[in-house]
Amino acid sequence: MRQFIRQNRLAGKSIGLVPTMGFLHQGHISLVEASKKENDITVVSIFVNPTQFAPNEDFSRYPRDFDRDAALLLEAGADVIFTPEAGDVYVKNAQTFISVEDLSKIAEGEFRPTHFRGVATIVAILFNLVQPDKAYFGQKDAQQTVVLRRMVKDLHMPIEMVVCPIVREADGLAMSSRNIYLTPSQRKDALVLSRSLKLAQDLISNGTRDAKEVIHQMKLLYNGLQECNLDYIRIVDADTFMEASAIELEGCYFIIIACKFGTTRLIDNCFISMPNGPIFQ
Ligand code: AMP
Repeated sequence: MRQFIRQNRLAGKSIGLVPTMGFLHQGHISLVEASKKENDITVVSIFVNPTQFAPNEDFSRYPRDFDRDAALLLEAGADVIFTPEAGDVYVKNAQTFISVEDLSKIAEGEFRPTHFRGVATIVAILFNLVQPDKAYFGQKDAQQTVVLRRMVKDLHMPIEMVVCPIVREADGLAMSSRNIYLTPSQRKDALVLSRSLKLAQDLISNGTRDAKEVIHQMKLLYNGLQECNLDYIRIVDADTFMEASAIELEGCYFIIIACKFGTTRLIDNCFISMPNGPIFQ
């Protein structure tokens, strides 16, 4: 990887990196397409990163299909697939981890306390290995993008973060490698995520400003869904991820949801940019 990067840098080529955990779908491919537009070389990493999974999570059963991924990436025009082994990425007795302190403890971090430390560490390692000019991430993992932007800024990493929109199935379900775990009835119930986000957007467009009221109306849609267990619905400031009590005309927010359908935990979100808010993203 180093040699390849060195040669291409010497030839004056720009490099885009798309970090993934594989089992690719159109969401990942949209990042590859964005990178191809803006860089000479697009590197896609496929690495199911053990340090971002807690012991009770789905690391060992996370779906993997390299041949399928490779075919999709070939078709999409990626230049390099980087698939390191865990033993190559994490050196023996590694003692260095990256913790983006407060941002990693709130919201998703309350439910997955070690998750963002694993994410920040692997992304920093990938940045060091691939040395991209730009790196591409999906808004699907909104808090991840905020955590990583913070890391890049705090550590003066010379890399531009690009965040791309959420790609959804025709019926609204956000694409995710984990959707394959869903039974047909859970798959149907999971539409509540995008439906409740749409409801929230409508309520806010029609003038509702009380965050609690928006969340209350959203939660009503989850009542009666048998295999559905809501971890949270929150309205948070888009920069800090702190909970907002009111939707201010000057604000930018994410409405974030995490919900279990059986044993499958899905997340979704939407970005709310109010008319007088800063231009964000
Ligand atoms: P993952 O393989 O789940 O770690 O995701 C790799 C990258 O793809 C992350 O930056 C995700 O945010 C992004 N991604 C995953 N699902 C989607 C989606 N439905 N739309 C856009 N980007 C996505």
